[in-house]
Amino acid sequence: LTREGFSTVPDVTWGDVGGIDHLRTQLKDYVVNPIKYPETFEKFGGKLNLETGFLLYGPPGCGKTLVAKAVANEAGANFIHIKGPELLNKYVGESERAIRTLFQRARQSSPCVIFFDEVDALTTNRGSGRGREGDLAVGGLLNQFLIELHGGDRRDVYVIGATNRIDVIDPAFLRPGRFTNRVYVPLPNADDRVSILKSIAKKRPIDPSVDLDAIANKYCEGFSGADLANLMDKAIHVAVKEKFQSIESSEDGDMNSSDCTIKFTHFKQAL
Ligand code: ATP
Repeated sequence: LTREGFSTVPDVTWGDVGGIDHLRTQLKDYVVNPIKYPETFEKFGGKLNLETGFLLYGPPGCGKTLVAKAVANEAGANFIHIKGPELLNKYVGESERAIRTLFQRARQSSPCVIFFDEVDALTTNRGSGRGREGDLAVGGLLNQFLIELHGGDRRDVYVIGATNRIDVIDPAFLRPGRFTNRVYVPLPNADDRVSILKSIAKKRPIDPSVDLDAIANKYCEGFSGADLANLMDKAIHVAVKEKFQSIESSEDGDMNSSDCTIKFTHFKQAL
């Protein structure tokens, strides 16, 4: 479902996400079940504690966006991706209007997940150098956001916030009934790296001799999910380049003469 090209059900599934299994259960309770089984929630007297936001925090490139998309996909919900700074406007009232419009659109395409990246930008303006006007814009926007989040008519609109800077988030955000559910999305450990690399490799022609466990374990210490995705892209690039070189140097230029798989040597060169 596309609505003015604005919100759609994402095509990312849980199969595309490696590691961070704990999040799946929590987000299922928060987003998926209320959308899929509204009668059960009604029987218990409504949506109880669900009228709050869900905040994912942690280092960049570790799957926050991916997880938010996968949960919307699982729920069959539309997805709106918005970045905090996009809503900031120094003209009085404009930022509030932007927030209102955002939630209005979400309600029109409900069930809907609003993924609020860089949500810290909405909180007080410490050290950003935007000056007094910027501060005012941020203050009004924060208030409007809290009104929509807490008191507004939510109707199957779910807010998932994300930040790399939980330390600068205004405490007003974190009070009960606001971003009460907070989950840390860490840098992946060795097992997570294996699972991430395998999920990224799923749709790629990896040579059967390649030991992805060993690559993720031995060579990728400290890598984020985004770093692993980048490694895969580079390995593909090396493999493609090698393939074309071999075609050019072969006498008959036969495109089909050798295979098209990504081998360990390609990963090694990409590292
Ligand atoms: P940021 O804080 O910078 O917005 P993020 O935590 O939202 O980062 P994503 O945008 O979800 O990170 O990840 C960037 C890319 O890295 C993804 O599109 C994906 O290719 C890869 N990636 C990151 N984490 C994972 C993961 N857990 N499983 C599979 N791929 C991942």
